[in-house]
Amino acid sequence: MRRMEEKIQTEGKVLPGGILKVGNFLNQQIDTGFLGEMAEEIKWHYEDSDVTKILTIESSGIPLAIATGMAMEVPVVFAKKHKTSNVDGNAYSSKVHSFTHNEDYNIIVSCEYLTENDRVLIIDDFLANGNALRGLIELIEQANAHLVGCAVAIEKCFQDGGDRLRADGVRIEALAAVESMTDTEIIFR
Ligand code: 5GP
Repeated sequence: MRRMEEKIQTEGKVLPGGILKVGNFLNQQIDTGFLGEMAEEIKWHYEDSDVTKILTIESSGIPLAIATGMAMEVPVVFAKKHKTSNVDGNAYSSKVHSFTHNEDYNIIVSCEYLTENDRVLIIDDFLANGNALRGLIELIEQANAHLVGCAVAIEKCFQDGGDRLRADGVRIEALAAVESMTDTEIIFR
């Protein structure tokens, strides 16, 4: 998505440790007009896939997931994060290693919000090592629901999460794919 690349070039900041900061339009301050454009792009990719539900993870995936849910007219479920391994009854849960915080946490979704009849589109802001998406996929598997595919705002291709998920047969659409980045230059695939 050309406009996403422009936004990253003009508003993104590269932080140490391979972190791209997009707080100006996606992660803290939200550019609502642009959020709508992102949602339409994701809808375009998946509109023939009979998606019944969108699944994301709190908190940074939620704005894009809701905008896309509104565009596609389907409900949005977000997995909650718990640091302990204690899980409420009647919930699906899986463990995720956080790239940005370098710690493990559990994600949970109440069983009533994900069922075997659902065709699920996963949405998140970033794809790096793929742990967040894999944790969400595990919840879908526990529910015996059908994974339609994933959509992320930004894939960092210099980390191999996307390549490994695609090798496992998972459909992934990224609105921008960053090939490499330094303090002075961001190159897109
Ligand atoms: P993964 O699980 O694929 O390694 O990382 C994806 C998760 O980590 C996303 O949910 C996102 O919140 C966070 N993340 C990974 N890389 C970045 C980054 O460069 N910038 C920001 N803002 N978040 C990131």
